[in-house]
Amino acid sequence: MTVHKKSREEIKLMKEAGNIVALVHQEMKKIIEPGLSTKDLDEAAMKIIKEHKAVPTFLGYNGFPASICASINGEVVHGIPSEKTILKEGDIISIDVGATYRGLVGDGAWTYPVGNISDECKMLLETTEKALFAGIEKMRDGALLDDVSGAVEDVAKSKNLGIVRQYGGHGVGHSMHEEPFVFNYRVGNNFVLKHGMTIAIEPMLNLGGDDVHTLEDDWTVVTNDGRPSAHFEHTVHVTDGEPEILTKLL
Ligand code: MG
Repeated sequence: MTVHKKSREEIKLMKEAGNIVALVHQEMKKIIEPGLSTKDLDEAAMKIIKEHKAVPTFLGYNGFPASICASINGEVVHGIPSEKTILKEGDIISIDVGATYRGLVGDGAWTYPVGNISDECKMLLETTEKALFAGIEKMRDGALLDDVSGAVEDVAKSKNLGIVRQYGGHGVGHSMHEEPFVFNYRVGNNFVLKHGMTIAIEPMLNLGGDDVHTLEDDWTVVTNDGRPSAHFEHTVHVTDGEPEILTKLL
């Protein structure tokens, strides 16, 4: 497996890319409300990415037609923004954003409530966010990647949430998907984290079972039981000390 450790200069650019991702999320949090279409959200994201002289990483990736993925309720990931998809009170919506700045990528996702949501959806969002940060906490020089996966798994299991098996985190930098792959549950992986690695951690947890499938649009991944799913992701830099989140405001 080839894992690219990043130089100081590369980390600097990844922070710029991550800042743009964070600015998009700041805007999403501000504007998401009932009545807006997911196409409106995509346009708002595209505007911010372009204003900052970055490229929307997702647009054209394997033919993906938009700058963000917008996945509502039982959609897990890779939902395609559409003017026909209108947010409703009580929905939850996962927004995944990638920005490429001078050749380096930041990748981050967050699930937002639309107006008032049910208590079980609130628990799903809180727990998936908690799982993300539990995983990040384990991202230290010399640690096993499996311990990151295990930390996510333990938080998910503490609330009996389903864990999406087919998708996970990944190395990120000069391209969106680098090695290693990061499972959201223990797999007995003995890969050791080293300072300079940059990895996106992204738990996808379900209120129901683990199983998901892809719709006929060849993109949208949905839960088999139709129950809601949440997705939280940060791009993280493994350092000699504390893990450093790169997808945050500078
Ligand atoms: Mg990702």
